[in-house]
Amino acid sequence: TIIPERRPSWLRVRPPEGEGYEEIKRLMRSKALHTVCEEARCPNIRECWGHGTATFMILGRICTRSCGFCAVETGRPLGVDWEEPKRVAEAVRQMGLRYAVVTSVNRDELKDGGASIFAATIRWIRRLNPGCKVEVLTPDFKGDYDALKVVMDAKPDVFNHNVETVPRLYRRVRPQAVYQRSLQVLKWAKELNPAAPTKSGFMLGLGESWDEVLEVMRDLRAHDVDILTIGQYLRPSFQHLPIQRYVPLEEFAALKEEGKKMGFRHVESGPFVRSSYHAHEQAEEALG
Ligand code: SF4
Ligand code: SF4
Repeated sequence: TIIPERRPSWLRVRPPEGEGYEEIKRLMRSKALHTVCEEARCPNIRECWGHGTATFMILGRICTRSCGFCAVETGRPLGVDWEEPKRVAEAVRQMGLRYAVVTSVNRDELKDGGASIFAATIRWIRRLNPGCKVEVLTPDFKGDYDALKVVMDAKPDVFNHNVETVPRLYRRVRPQAVYQRSLQVLKWAKELNPAAPTKSGFMLGLGESWDEVLEVMRDLRAHDVDILTIGQYLRPSFQHLPIQRYVPLEEFAALKEEGKKMGFRHVESGPFVRSSYHAHEQAEEALG
């Protein structure tokens, strides 16, 4: 059964927007930068931007993959912009960020999947913003260990890669991804840089069962993941996968408890949680 699009009350109340929204919008346009906040039509944009924080999306705004939940455009990307890392770092400086989150589209057509641009972005952010911490949310690089190593050698403070959903639903939700490969990437990231906490997350409301969710959480712990994010899937448009269920707040709270019992250092669980939502606060516990 497909439930109607009308949202339950806890998904209709949103925090008020802050003052910085227009400012960030102007900054991103002036530097020709993209954010996942806009491209993925994140429901938190007014709150995050209002408070002067955003998540950069590097390597263009066209993705080579076509995940069923994601609003980012699929197609053939343009070339690689080697000036982009520096512009991201300048924007971080202008925004005065102490914690920057950088993600990207998938660039499966590139030899290193865009890993070198990730590394350059981390280094540029550090160069122009001493003391600023950097979290990267990367693709799976098609399971290419060497590409991942390029990113980890640049020493991100937190490494994030999302499993997005339970393995049974991959064909519909993440058709070009492989569950085991994503777990492997997380494990390698920890091995390559044990000092950096690793992080992953998934959405609820796509048709997963409670037991399947717990299984994924156990898998993530078995691959040494430290930080977990759990949020409600919200359909970006009618072209995207339908919402199977609105998950009640109590269930998010119960999963947080389960996660803590399993040994995650931090669990962020709630309907509006996205992997970059309050990322700094999420990482604080794990970074010590
Ligand atoms: Fe952007 Fe993340 Fe905030 Fe959404 S939760 S608006 S993607 S920073
Ligand atoms: Fe969206 Fe990432 Fe999937 Fe591309 S790989 S469609 S950006 S979720």
